[in-house]
Amino acid sequence: MKRRLVFATNNTHKLEEIKAILGEKIEILSLSDIGCHADIPETADTLEGNARLKAQYVYDHYGLDCIADDTGLEVESMGGAPGVYSARYAGNGHDSQANMKKLLEEMKEKNNRKAQFRTIISLIEKGEEKHFEGMVKGQIVRERRGETGFGYDPIFKPDGYETTFAEMGSDVKNRISHRAQAVAALCEYLSHT
Ligand code: IMP
Repeated sequence: MKRRLVFATNNTHKLEEIKAILGEKIEILSLSDIGCHADIPETADTLEGNARLKAQYVYDHYGLDCIADDTGLEVESMGGAPGVYSARYAGNGHDSQANMKKLLEEMKEKNNRKAQFRTIISLIEKGEEKHFEGMVKGQIVRERRGETGFGYDPIFKPDGYETTFAEMGSDVKNRISHRAQAVAALCEYLSHT
């Protein structure tokens, strides 16, 4: 029988991304597939902690092996902020435009534009946790550029590229992104177990 893994998300983009990579070997179930409609708390103060909380919730309530992810944008000159608080940097409501506006304001006088996107994937298998990391280093540009992607994509330019994530197109972004790298590390592990 095919191995089963819940991905603690209802984000269809993330589900499709992971199914495209793992789907042949592993049956990936979403939260709605298992009848979980809870608003799983993300109350930890690290990416690792939040990813673990989400995966642990599913394991504890449904007894199913599970993965969960958490991502943050870490700006060097701001001591790693907004980091784990990236989604609600400008307040609750997941408003990317407001988040980018606030970050650009905050960095107006800063010449050190270094930043990184970091994703942690937590895997809970038979009650044991492992985590996998993906990271992309780059720069925060001074004005929004590009239309594709989501979140902070228009203001993040990965090192080695002249375009922001929002200008390069999803094919390129999804090949090099922090999430793609974390998923690759997870796949590498799963292919040996
Ligand atoms: P989540 O953990 O995937 O929900 O990501 C937290 C927040 O980080 C999101 O609300 C976005 O603002 C931001 N974020 C995550 N991944 C990306 C990305 O690939 N590009 C731009 N912003 C992202």
